[in-house]
Amino acid sequence: MHILDAFADTSRFRTLRRDIHAHPELGFEEERTSALVARLLAEWGIAVHRGIAGTGLVGVLRGSLPDTGRTIGLRADMDALPLQEVNGFAHRSTHDGRMHACGHDGHTTMLLAAAWQLAQRRDFAGTVHFIFQPAEEMGKAGAKKMIDEGLFERFPCDAVFALHNFNLGRVGNFALNHGALMASSNTWRVTVRGRGTHASMPHTGLDPVGAVLEIAQALRSLVARTIPSTERALLAVTQIQGSDAPNVIPDEAWVGGTVRTFSVDALDKIEARLRHLAGHIAQAHECQAEVMFRRASPPVVNHPAEARFAAEVMREIVGAEMVDEDLPGVLGAEDFAHMLMVRPGCYAFLGNGDGDHRMAGHGPGPCIIHNTSFDFNDDIIPIGASYFVRLAERWLAPDRPSA
Ligand SMILES: [Zn+2]
Ligand SMILES: [Zn+2]
Repeated sequence: MHILDAFADTSRFRTLRRDIHAHPELGFEEERTSALVARLLAEWGIAVHRGIAGTGLVGVLRGSLPDTGRTIGLRADMDALPLQEVNGFAHRSTHDGRMHACGHDGHTTMLLAAAWQLAQRRDFAGTVHFIFQPAEEMGKAGAKKMIDEGLFERFPCDAVFALHNFNLGRVGNFALNHGALMASSNTWRVTVRGRGTHASMPHTGLDPVGAVLEIAQALRSLVARTIPSTERALLAVTQIQGSDAPNVIPDEAWVGGTVRTFSVDALDKIEARLRHLAGHIAQAHECQAEVMFRRASPPVVNHPAEARFAAEVMREIVGAEMVDEDLPGVLGAEDFAHMLMVRPGCYAFLGNGDGDHRMAGHGPGPCIIHNTSFDFNDDIIPIGASYFVRLAERWLAPDRPSA
């Protein structure tokens, strides 16, 4: 391990992380967290620009070496989830029904720790942009909102990088790949309109429930008929609604679910096929189908050159045996995808351990994200912070050859 000396004692950042954990705020409501981040960055001499996508903010730090015009963006997310924490330890959530169950308290802290160190060292040529985004969770797309409000015009970034904690078993191992790392997330609903009637006289109506059942069946084999078997994609049928009464054929019925893909191309094909099948099956029943297909988050697709660069830095910090550069894509979704659609960069996972770090008083659940027993592992703060520091220093090294 080559953790920076400055992080040998991270008690200050451990305390900070636990303070943020105790005060979770939902997407676009991160007032306290955002104010805390802004205060610390300013204290360390970093220029702060607030109010980008509401509670989002950017810190700007220029190196002390002659400026090369190069720039890098480092991003952390700040929001919590609407969950009731069951942990009993001292830093548990003080807000009912809100919890840092995805470790964004830790992401914010790791980037702050890196900012603190970079502001002291300043041994780089160019500019670091520290991007603290709101509303990563629940499809609120805070990253997209920041981009729409001019993030990369105001704060140009040659490349952007982000980290997410993950239950990879070990503490402090990195995992990434050079392409599609996380899936696109999309929701769909097919509403079928027929003509309701008494259930004992179906011949007098047009039954939308029958059409919905056939649509649901057809959709369950859609992916295999649409996407090559060498690619991964998923269509789940998870919701179905007919009449409120057992003896009523309703005027309308609906079926819904989620679609996950690792490319926009696969997503285009699946959406087109879904619309085609739903429309024609409904028509065969003399009903009408209305299809809602909402693209919540695009796939997270790493850029190969930046992924290779990031993996180099990871090996410098934790050694080659702790870096998995070929992780199969995972089906979760992540808002950082929007940034990688418009800028080169790399997203990666950092091992949060298997839960041993939780002191007495944690809940009975596993230590995986989006779980009411979860807690971020403070032992990885120095690892993630060292990674961000060295990433910036190497990206902005005066002698780095152009790609
Ligand atoms: Zn999450
Ligand atoms: Zn998360």
